[in-house]
Amino acid sequence: MNLNFQTSLANSYTNNSQKIRAMSEPWTEQNIFCPNCGSKLSELENNKKVSDFLCDNCLENYEQKASKNKFKNKVISSEYYSLIYRLKSVDKPNFFFLHYLDGIFSVNDFFVVPKYFFTSEIIERRKPLSITAKRAGWTGSNILFSKIPNSGKIYYIEDWKEISKKEILEKWQKTAFLKDIKKDNLKGWILDIMNCIESLNKNDFSLNEIYAFEKDLEILHPENKNIKPKIRQQLQFLRDKWYLEFLEKGKYKVL
Ligand SMILES: [Zn+2]
Repeated sequence: MNLNFQTSLANSYTNNSQKIRAMSEPWTEQNIFCPNCGSKLSELENNKKVSDFLCDNCLENYEQKASKNKFKNKVISSEYYSLIYRLKSVDKPNFFFLHYLDGIFSVNDFFVVPKYFFTSEIIERRKPLSITAKRAGWTGSNILFSKIPNSGKIYYIEDWKEISKKEILEKWQKTAFLKDIKKDNLKGWILDIMNCIESLNKNDFSLNEIYAFEKDLEILHPENKNIKPKIRQQLQFLRDKWYLEFLEKGKYKVL
């Protein structure tokens, strides 16, 4: 895979964000396949698009955010209310995140976050611009990457290293069960438990190790007074979806 943008594509633009768009979107169309089915993606025309790319085969759509900064815990995103509206719509997109190295215009990281990881908890509302600002009242947003489990960040390129197509397609399928969960609150619980499991940073773990997060989960879900049964319920759900295996009483393994 050629990790470099074709810089001549930016020649006719003066605005920097337009330049980046003119280079990064054709790069994605040429190099990135649909993570849902492995087919080719097509870039949608600028003026009529609701998202940036569409899969020719399964019709999943993708929106791309390119940045010269690495995507860390929190990333500034677009206008808050229109983003929330889009995330509630039927054509809600999946998101590509592309981090390029400034100056040499080479792709350093590229990953996809499936749309079902985007709950309203992941989008943080920023303070509206003050009345003295040019766009007074305009409200921006942040995407809280720290709330997305690692299984929801599917890398194609990580620190210049390419990941195999087989691995990408498998990783996508592994969490596809989340798309059937419609209630944000229920999904929030599952994502929180997935985050707890990941933070242990090992494949085998015990129920007690997850119970140790009880206080943190209490803060995230103040309405729930029975945290422990709720934890067990999520673990059972993840087992039914082949995300986990129960080894013996109180012992689990990530598949
Ligand atoms: Zn597809």
